[in-house]
Amino acid sequence: MATSKPLSVAIVGGGIGGLCLAIGLLRYSHLKITIFEASHAFAEIGAGLALGPNAQRALCLISSMAEQAFRHNATSNSSPQFRKAWFDFRCYVQGEQDSLDLGIINNETGQQTVHRARFLDALAGLIPADIIHFGKRLARVTEFGITDNSPILLHFTDGTTAMADCAVGADGVHSILRKHLLGAATPEATPVFSSIVCYRGLIPMEDADKALGKYAHDAYVWCGKGAMVMTYPINFGEVLNVVAACDRKTWNDKEYVVNSTPEQLSKDFESLVGIPRRIIELLGRPMLWAMLDHLPAPQYFSRNIAIMGDAAHATTPFQGAGAGQAIEDALVLSTLLGRARCLHDIEPALAAYDIVRRPRTQRVVRTSRDAMKLFAFTDDIVDGDVEKWKQAWRGRMDWIWDIDLEVHVADALEIFGQKVGCGCHVAKTADQGALKSESESHRRSHLVV
Ligand SMILES: Cc1cc2nc3c(=O)[nH]c(=O)nc-3n(C[C@H](O)[C@H](O)[C@H](O)COP(=O)(O)OP(=O)(O)OC[C@H]3O[C@@H](n4cnc5c(N)ncnc54)[C@H](O)[C@@H]3O)c2cc1C
Repeated sequence: MATSKPLSVAIVGGGIGGLCLAIGLLRYSHLKITIFEASHAFAEIGAGLALGPNAQRALCLISSMAEQAFRHNATSNSSPQFRKAWFDFRCYVQGEQDSLDLGIINNETGQQTVHRARFLDALAGLIPADIIHFGKRLARVTEFGITDNSPILLHFTDGTTAMADCAVGADGVHSILRKHLLGAATPEATPVFSSIVCYRGLIPMEDADKALGKYAHDAYVWCGKGAMVMTYPINFGEVLNVVAACDRKTWNDKEYVVNSTPEQLSKDFESLVGIPRRIIELLGRPMLWAMLDHLPAPQYFSRNIAIMGDAAHATTPFQGAGAGQAIEDALVLSTLLGRARCLHDIEPALAAYDIVRRPRTQRVVRTSRDAMKLFAFTDDIVDGDVEKWKQAWRGRMDWIWDIDLEVHVADALEIFGQKVGCGCHVAKTADQGALKSESESHRRSHLVV
């Protein structure tokens, strides 16, 4: 039965996933959206972010303005022959002077990258400021029976609480809501170290150009034994973004992002020669990141609570697909929740989201680990054989990039329709048009201090 009272959806976490979900949900006037973000302002760490064609299409289906937020800030490869190139993969063979071209992998959009903070700011600009509550770090959750008015009570570390009909954890790799759903003691609840570390740094294009020449202006992956160096231009070609990854058996620091030392950096990449070695020398003192991901969660929801983005399926970055999957989650979840007319519709909506999204996102996590093994020639199948390597990459990413998202969403809606046993939810087409006006979407929050 439909209700006249708006359904309140609390989004915990205002990263790319949480903001895209909010933008998607703001299309529906019967939903009341609130974002609770732990930090005191929106912030992204790390510089470059690449979005594949699937992620760009998902943004467009959420809102044309969200897609513009990306497009207006996106940097592409510079050379005309690299227009459709995702990366040109290269390696150095012992004793050879020049690098060996392992091949260019193309896709529909080519490499498209943004400066993370700029993109996040542009997304935040699409959300009314008064639905966002900063400085609200979720500590724990209390759930009441579904017969109660608002079945979820969020407790923040500052002692305040908030009620909601539905809560979505977009609170990143160390998600509190993931622990709440899966049980804090289960191995799936907390992230695992992937035995890979990444140095992330930026090189001013002037320096990069001098040292690397033409290799500074397009996207490359430099493969080496046990290590790889990925580079692409960002900030409209003003800066070269670098991610340099290598194997590391254990991680002992309690922080997952730490300062690096030039000595350790140099040692970690001592096997590299030529261009990738020069890139490492230009990095100075980059931050060092432990690469974490999640064991597959048995489910992404329980009752009226769901998790999305890195909270649901944190992945290593070797297919450049983590944020893209968060955006796809936001598309599917917002469309489903847009069909929920009463409290009892929320659980079937989250169940449909889980059924459609879990297999795809967990496959991304699995294949991303395999990708690093290919980059670093540490896999058992290819084992350094260049022809086998090329074969392994042929079409390898197509299932990520080529997904028909409208069919994906339709599948989710069909499952939802079956679960609520009422066709009327599915028959109504999404108001895919413009976001509703600020005044429409502006409603007072349930924040209780
Ligand atoms: C080296 C590296 C390179 C990458 N490159 C790419 C790439 O090129 N393309 C790509 O698609 N993906 C890439 N990724 C992955 C991508 O960065 C993530 O998948 C994406 O940022 C996840 O977004 P999210 O919103 O789910 O989580 P996050 O960005 O982690 O956001 C979580 C938000 O929740 C807040 N929060 C945390 N805890 C709480 C709490 N308890 N209460 C309230 N708020 C909380 C945080 O402050 C944060 O704002 C890369 C990752 C790494 C590590």
